[in-house]
Amino acid sequence: MADPQIEKLLIVQYRDVSLLKIKQDLARIPIERGMVASEIASEEANIEAARQALISKELQRKEIDVDVQVKEGALLRFRTQQVEVKKNDEYQALTHQIEQTEADIATLEEREIELMLDIDTAKQEFEADKAVILVRIEVQRQEIALLTEREGNLNASVAAASEEVAESRVGIDVDYLEQYDRVKKMVKRAPYLAPIEAQKCGGCHLRVSNEISRGAQNAGEPHFCDQCARMVYA
Ligand SMILES: [Zn+2]
Repeated sequence: MADPQIEKLLIVQYRDVSLLKIKQDLARIPIERGMVASEIASEEANIEAARQALISKELQRKEIDVDVQVKEGALLRFRTQQVEVKKNDEYQALTHQIEQTEADIATLEEREIELMLDIDTAKQEFEADKAVILVRIEVQRQEIALLTEREGNLNASVAAASEEVAESRVGIDVDYLEQYDRVKKMVKRAPYLAPIEAQKCGGCHLRVSNEISRGAQNAGEPHFCDQCARMVYA
């Protein structure tokens, strides 16, 4: 490799690729952090949903309590009326109402007991699940903290790597630099500057013309692959 400009450009390329890699790592951090944050949000939503389910069971229990109190009030009224009625059919009707109300109260109380047992079990499950979820959330929060720390380090690396790129460009012919920058913008992936080996371009791996292959050996001006347009050297 005879061309000293190419030797210098190879260092620029090496540093450009390093900088690009750091920038790509940096760009992934907000995405990764967003994913962890949404995991935390969904864990918290699960806890909240379980808490609401418990509250709704407690409310059902209270409603049953109120129903029982209403029925007991009615029962008291029927018994008072029964003492006062004179006619036998009225007495019988009240007896029937008293029996029906007592049966209703018994049914309500059974349901309340079932519900209380259900609430006890649900509470225990809720507390156990919550403890597990909170541990997971803590781990996820630590992941976020680590990602943020890594982000800070990568930002510092970008600054340092950009400086290194700038330093490596000093003293290179403007024409070479402009062509290198043009190729870099145009091709999707490194290398932007590729060796020709066995008449094949090291960038696209296609065979180049004899003219390009020969020309690439001459220092003094940049040469380009006739297949992919990358800058080439031999
Ligand atoms: Zn090529």
